[in-house]
Amino acid sequence: MKHRKSVKDYIRTIVDFPHEGIMFRDVTTLFADPRGFRMCIDELLHPYAGEEIDKVVGLEARGFIIGGAIAHQLSVGFTPIRKKGKLPGATLSQAYALEYGEAVMEVHDDAIQPGEKVLVVDDLLATGGTAAAGIQLIEKLGGEIIGCAFIIDLPDLGGRAKLEEMGMDVHILCE
Ligand code: IMP
Repeated sequence: MKHRKSVKDYIRTIVDFPHEGIMFRDVTTLFADPRGFRMCIDELLHPYAGEEIDKVVGLEARGFIIGGAIAHQLSVGFTPIRKKGKLPGATLSQAYALEYGEAVMEVHDDAIQPGEKVLVVDDLLATGGTAAAGIQLIEKLGGEIIGCAFIIDLPDLGGRAKLEEMGMDVHILCE
């Protein structure tokens, strides 16, 4: 029987990027392939078929690529959560800890209406710090998060457990 590629088969690993000792999981090869990209979007959405979703939120930067495709598929709006200083309008900010120091994520303060049902997406879940900051911003605006979907989990870094402790429903395609 012919082997059908899975989403994981399209993801490439770049050794020592951006620093020595890091194995960077590169989804550009997944996005560049017509079957790979379509399969990825279909599988990210699969658990939410039939559910009411009002808005898709994507985390900078690869979350914008999948989030845009998902929002278009669902015929709903898309909201970006960006690194500090990139959004032009009035924003809410949320700091989170990095291995060394901290980072800040921002959202436009009018981007989500209270009670809107939100799906959060990004390419990869590591420590969960980025996603947790995004979740806090959405909740500050009154959004109701119905799920958090990622392509890749790095299970040793504990991101899934962190988000589940925050009460999130987490969907991830591969480890
Ligand atoms: P976390 O905040 O530790 O969960 O890191 C997740 C964030 O870092 C996501 O926005 C990812 O896009 C990015 N990231 C971390 N490691 C990788 C990787 O190996 N490939 C792609 N993105 C990564």
